[in-house]
Amino acid sequence: MSKDSETTFGEEQRRAYLERYGLTPAEAGHDMLIQMIEDMFKEGLTTEVEPFPETDREFGALLDKLRPLSADQLREKLVISGWLLQPYGEDQMRCQECMYYLVHKRWCDLPELDLPAKPEWWCRLWRI
Ligand code: SF4
Repeated sequence: MSKDSETTFGEEQRRAYLERYGLTPAEAGHDMLIQMIEDMFKEGLTTEVEPFPETDREFGALLDKLRPLSADQLREKLVISGWLLQPYGEDQMRCQECMYYLVHKRWCDLPELDLPAKPEWWCRLWRI
């Protein structure tokens, strides 16, 4: 995959979303985004859950990778953030207890992600 196709939302990706969902992630609301995310995992998406960012510097480096992505680059956001559809680790960390999680909206409010999430999901940007 070229650097370009990793960092830009290509015409092919756009067409694939439109054919399947009738809209792209940037245009999708909460429920449709949840559907898109679950579909990707059903189809075998694996994400970079390790290494967990132990320091502010490592955390910031991940944010720097996420920041340039557009709202349409849903797959890339999930991969870089190490997104999972279940709790993670010995402590069973999950969105529900993360400082970025908006419980009532069921939404991840970290600006670099800005995505819906179910309470039992997790990503490696988890913080309390
Ligand atoms: S930062 Fe990660 S763990 Fe925290 S709410 Fe967002 S998706 Fe969930």
